[in-house]
Amino acid sequence: MKAVVIQKPNTPVVIEERPIPQPKAGEVLIKVRACGVCHSDLGVIEGGIPFATFPRVLGHEVAGVVDKVGEGVTWPKVGDRVGMQWLFSACGHCDQCVRGAEILCPFAQITGVMQDGGYQEYMIAPALYVAPIPDELSFADAGPLMCAGLTVFNGMRQAGYKPGQKVAVIGLGGLGHLAVLYAKAMGARVAVISNSPDKQDEAQELGAEYFVNTGAQKAGDALRAWDGGADIILATAPSSEAANDAVPGLAPDGTLVVLGVGSGNISAMHFDLIGARRRVLGSPSGGRSDVRATLTFSAHNKVVPRITKYPLEDAGKALSLLQSGKLRDRAVLMIA
Ligand SMILES: [Zn+2]
Ligand SMILES: [Zn+2]
Repeated sequence: MKAVVIQKPNTPVVIEERPIPQPKAGEVLIKVRACGVCHSDLGVIEGGIPFATFPRVLGHEVAGVVDKVGEGVTWPKVGDRVGMQWLFSACGHCDQCVRGAEILCPFAQITGVMQDGGYQEYMIAPALYVAPIPDELSFADAGPLMCAGLTVFNGMRQAGYKPGQKVAVIGLGGLGHLAVLYAKAMGARVAVISNSPDKQDEAQELGAEYFVNTGAQKAGDALRAWDGGADIILATAPSSEAANDAVPGLAPDGTLVVLGVGSGNISAMHFDLIGARRRVLGSPSGGRSDVRATLTFSAHNKVVPRITKYPLEDAGKALSLLQSGKLRDRAVLMIA
């Protein structure tokens, strides 16, 4: 089978021929049909993820079909459509796992970072960690929902979103465009904050009622002019300045949710936080219950990503387009 491998940080990905792996007890073999290309994949390549191990097959937005099951596996069955996400496995016994917050497990294994992911024709996954993909979702659409979709959907839930609240989304990339779609589908009023004024049309098409061009306006002032500010700001772009500038635009009791990983510090003036009791919250992707909720919500509310498909062999090309900021849609690697 073909696998797209990164040998060590800051080297190009290469295509390798590898034997198809065999599932051991408790594992399944997934025939990968689609795998989204995520910004965190660039993090692995650029050496920015300290717990990444090499050589590694990237990819944590996996959608495919169970091809074989290992000894003792009673679920899923061969032929089931399943996805794999960032969380490859968790320990099951630490305090975080026991209270149902397995994404915070200190012993978690991460797909495509510490274990081989979906940039290959077949991958191994722990049987209990795959997510069933609803029939309504194609493999290509389900892929990006496993990380980009999960991260923004769950970020809103973690922030305590209530129907009718105002949600501002910083950035309109892979996570941002899905954030707008989820927020709209959940009944929010939505704003988009971007430094590219040419994103305004797209923001409106997706359902945003308000657009803040940070090249011409201060995000905090512009958001406060939006009926008193945003209840939730989802910072999906990897820019700490953009997140910091938006904090004063939170409504009282509002929450800034930091989702996109960038350089620099998230910071806020003491009084901007204290006076209106604002919060800053970091949120990683989510656990198994969160990913199931994301997929079910997406299937029933028709929230699907905007994607461009590439053959697996073009993984390197898709990654460099993402790196240069030239990708408009989520790139999805397709395997027949
Ligand atoms: Zn990701
Ligand atoms: Zn644990």
